Amino acid sequence: MVNLNEKVAIVTGGAKGIGQAITRELAKHGVKVVVNYNSSVGSAEKLIAELKEAGSEVYAVQADVSNLEQSRKLVEETINHFGRLDILINNAGITRDKTFKKLSEEDWRTVIDVNLNSVYNTSSAALPHLLESDAGRIINISSIIGQFGGFGQTNYAAAKAGLIGYTKSLALELAKSSVTVNAICPGYIETEMVKEIPEDIREKLISKVPQRRLGQPEEIARGIIYLCQDGDYITGQQLNINGGIYM
Ligand code: NAP
Repeated sequence: MVNLNEKVAIVTGGAKGIGQAITRELAKHGVKVVVNYNSSVGSAEKLIAELKEAGSEVYAVQADVSNLEQSRKLVEETINHFGRLDILINNAGITRDKTFKKLSEEDWRTVIDVNLNSVYNTSSAALPHLLESDAGRIINISSIIGQFGGFGQTNYAAAKAGLIGYTKSLALELAKSSVTVNAICPGYIETEMVKEIPEDIREKLISKVPQRRLGQPEEIARGIIYLCQDGDYITGQQLNINGGIYM
């Protein structure tokens, strides 16, 4: 089992929703966390203040991870501040749901840039440092939508399915190193992203979940700890945390 105390992690989009739960859980396990945010400066400042008060070592860095230069700066600031990097959680994501007929080129490109191209940006900058760790981890937050598709979600589904192919391929390339690469595929999790779905549609979605409820962000965060702590022999996998909606 890996001792997470003193390890250093970056959580992209780490101030809100699932990312915030991941930040909290890593900090609880003694990990020094760089909380990346793009626009949610208020949430980031509040979270940092609260976790520092509780004795955790956390640091906020603003960066748009769809931008290569800003992603490099995010990793650079992490190294300058904490001196190492062991864990990269690629969590940042957005939706721009529209049927394909109504989808603009901008809707397509923005979702691919934030959800998929960001992972090239952060991983390429982080990899040299992760390779120096005795237990390097890249964990990509994909989605059930990348596994079974979604009405009005061609852009998002393409990005999330792309993450799965990327995860398996990079895992193969890094298998002889100490870095593992895995994806977590959440089902419907109770965050702002899901609260944006109109209530009647949300209720219909819940009725399709065998466990008949939304998942909680903390349930994803505990999957992250499992992969970081006990995951030495787990690589190239999709960890499905979804209440049974996709098996
Ligand atoms: P959320 O509450 O809307 O949070 C999205 C996060 O992504 C925010 O912290 C946001 O930061 C960050 N982000 C967006 N664009 C960014 C950019 N360009 N650069 C840096 N950060 C950026 O959504 P969530 O539900 O927690 O989703 C987190 C991840 O889980 C996403 O990848 C999502 O696709 C995936 N997921 C969610 C569900 C679900 O049911 N909720 C299911 C499957 C997968 P700012 O606010 O600072 O921009």
